Amino acid sequence: KSVPTITLNDGHTIPQLGFGVFKVEPDETTRIVADALSVGYRHIDTAAIYGNEEGVGKALAASNIDRSELFITTKLWNDRQGTQSAFDAFDESLEKLGLDYIDLYLIHWPAPGNDKFVESWKVLEKIQESGRARSIGVSNFLVPHLDRLLHETSIVPAVNQIELHPAHQQPEVTAFARENGINIEAWGPLGQGKYPLFDEEVVTNAAETHEKSPAQIVIRWHLQNGNIVFPKSNRLARMAENFDVFDFELSRTELTMISALERAGRVSAHPNEVN
Ligand code: NAD
Repeated sequence: KSVPTITLNDGHTIPQLGFGVFKVEPDETTRIVADALSVGYRHIDTAAIYGNEEGVGKALAASNIDRSELFITTKLWNDRQGTQSAFDAFDESLEKLGLDYIDLYLIHWPAPGNDKFVESWKVLEKIQESGRARSIGVSNFLVPHLDRLLHETSIVPAVNQIELHPAHQQPEVTAFARENGINIEAWGPLGQGKYPLFDEEVVTNAAETHEKSPAQIVIRWHLQNGNIVFPKSNRLARMAENFDVFDFELSRTELTMISALERAGRVSAHPNEVN
């Protein structure tokens, strides 16, 4: 079975399961992305700040996969928010990736202390109009940040990419986003390995029932909840494992029990504190 797609609020489609390259070393990126493409991933999530856009671009170019089959996301870093700086940062990302358009361009963090995310969003609107980004969205935005965009700009973000995993489900921002037609992308979908999610009894029990691994159970929980996910691994075997999640389904009860693992367990910084 193949990866389902989700239709965004601008009519473009995104593969619901992709591959993330946060903390993938620049000199290893080409090998790692080539491995991911060989497994079947077609959606790659990178960012200017990851320092590995060139490596991603090389792997894409070498793959000979038709551009129309790929879905590439990259992000505007905080210190480039503004008008000219954001246009320039976008051009640099495009150049490093060796692409003539990006599928999805995101504002990486609201950085509310700098108060430039509304101005930056207007740049993303122009970039989308020019066709150089098919879709535009945001990342790490909380309700007040989304609310400002809805009131002060014209285009509703296609996605909000937020930290989301069973211990940190962000019900408030998730509900607000969905009510406004904004899809949720869950970053750190496996909790970044920072807490023992794979030892939770509800996860290990479901793994036994379905003869799957705990990671596959957690990815399935995301997919069945409608989240877009791109778990990261440097290892080919795990890339394949994380992609092999379309031959089983969690029951309603299993989903509910995994959702009960919520404990406000953020693994990264609070969005208001990243500038
Ligand atoms: P993740 O939750 O995907 O965890 C990755 C870690 O989980 C791996 O390093 C590995 O240790 C472990 N792992 C992966 N597959 C496994 C398996 N099958 N079995 C056991 N362990 C396994 O964390 P992430 O990489 O931070 O998040 C995914 C992607 O989200 C990133 O690569 C990046 O693209 C994106 N992201 C975005 C932001 C943002 O601010 N927008 C922040 C962090 C991550």
